[in-house]
Amino acid sequence: MNAADDKTIVREYFNSTGFDRWRRIYGDGEVNKVQLDIRNGHQQTVDTVIDWLKADNNLPELSICDAGCGVGSLSIPLAVDGAKVYASDISEKMVEEGKDRAKQTLGNSENPTFAVQDLESLSGSYHTVICLDVLIHYPQEKADEMISHLCSLAQSRIILSFAPKTCALTILKKIGSFFPGPSKATRAYLHREADVVRILENNGFSVQRQAMTKTRFYFSRLLEATRQ
Ligand code: SAM
Repeated sequence: MNAADDKTIVREYFNSTGFDRWRRIYGDGEVNKVQLDIRNGHQQTVDTVIDWLKADNNLPELSICDAGCGVGSLSIPLAVDGAKVYASDISEKMVEEGKDRAKQTLGNSENPTFAVQDLESLSGSYHTVICLDVLIHYPQEKADEMISHLCSLAQSRIILSFAPKTCALTILKKIGSFFPGPSKATRAYLHREADVVRILENNGFSVQRQAMTKTRFYFSRLLEATRQ
């Protein structure tokens, strides 16, 4: 399968069964145990990013690009805290849901702004570029290109999360219990941390803060890198 196929499959998935599944996981209604575990894990990743940004005490001065924003789980709280947020996603349905949720929380605010756009075609310049739990849908070579492009949009900082290629996860993936259930409709790619760090460094960034979220079914390595 080539990278273009991966992208088409991912787009279609997040506009159909994936939308229903992830909208529920990223919500607060009733879900099954596995989905609840993933919801809690993902929330930890989001909370870590918010904690990092808040610790710097300059959120209202920041322009933030949330690439692959999903239903706005990160974009909306960042906008509430005063950052100027540009949120985009390849899936029309996820973006519509994000807009609805932003309206419920923030009323008719123009912040965040939402757009249906794949991250490869994003342009502009932002203080901070964030991309959470998107790279898992792409093989390493494609992820390298995506990371390089995101770096080109970031004036100062990039924050990425990915599923780390560790022995335990590789085995889990082989036996098929990684991201169980209907989400198996898309492939889950694991990435070596050393590869991600190398791409960041090749683009002039160096890692400052890092975190790992690990629950039963959710694994996400989070890196913050700043421009040197
Ligand atoms: N970042 C969000 C979060 O953490 O709440 C959503 C994570 S969700 C697992 C992955 C999202 O990435 C989906 O909304 C999907 O539509 C989006 N996505 C996948 N490939 C993309 C691409 N090439 N460009 C932009 N968005 C993409």
